[in-house]
Amino acid sequence: MARYTGAVCRLCRREGMKLFLKGAKCFSEKCPVEKRNFAPGQHGKDRKAKIVGYGLQLREKQKTKRIYFTLEKQFRNYFEKAARAQGVTGDILLQQLERRLDNVAYRMGIATSRRQARQLVRHGHVLVNGKKVNIPSYQVNAGDEISVREKSLKLTVIEGAVDFASHQTAPNWLAIDREKRSVKVNSLPKREDINLPVNEQLIVELYSK
Ligand code: SF4
Repeated sequence: MARYTGAVCRLCRREGMKLFLKGAKCFSEKCPVEKRNFAPGQHGKDRKAKIVGYGLQLREKQKTKRIYFTLEKQFRNYFEKAARAQGVTGDILLQQLERRLDNVAYRMGIATSRRQARQLVRHGHVLVNGKKVNIPSYQVNAGDEISVREKSLKLTVIEGAVDFASHQTAPNWLAIDREKRSVKVNSLPKREDINLPVNEQLIVELYSK
């Protein structure tokens, strides 16, 4: 399965904002966005032109894609599916991204980043309705119960993440039980439940050209 293996902090610096891809480091003063908030590369410091039009749409798409740590082809597939569905395309696009199992595992607080949550899913530590699901892009549904395999509950990664996540606000659409390391999906997420600095309309405009 293809995945991005480059330096992730470069992605944040390119977008000029924290995308929270590295867990605890993102909240520390070691975060490169705090120390070197300019685009990576030889001419990163010189890029001062205001981004407008296509550039703005492209950056918004790249930013969203990177927050959920998906690759271009998969992200495009989400858009095409959203465009075919009934409803507001941008909202459905974000809803699909938010319903990914790795994202839900991150939201429930068993990982300090979506990347780490993806690895936990891939390694079979996460259960959906009591059955192992090791597909990070699996779409959760209303009524699903996501939990951690009993043998995995004592993993240092998971224990550390639960303390870390206890300071974070839980989204409305998920009923999170941090003690049991489980979550029940109350309903599908609406746009107002997805607290991300993303203008999805720009992504729709970009892909609709
Ligand atoms: Fe982004 Fe986190 Fe790296 Fe900071 S530490 S640049 S927020 S991935």
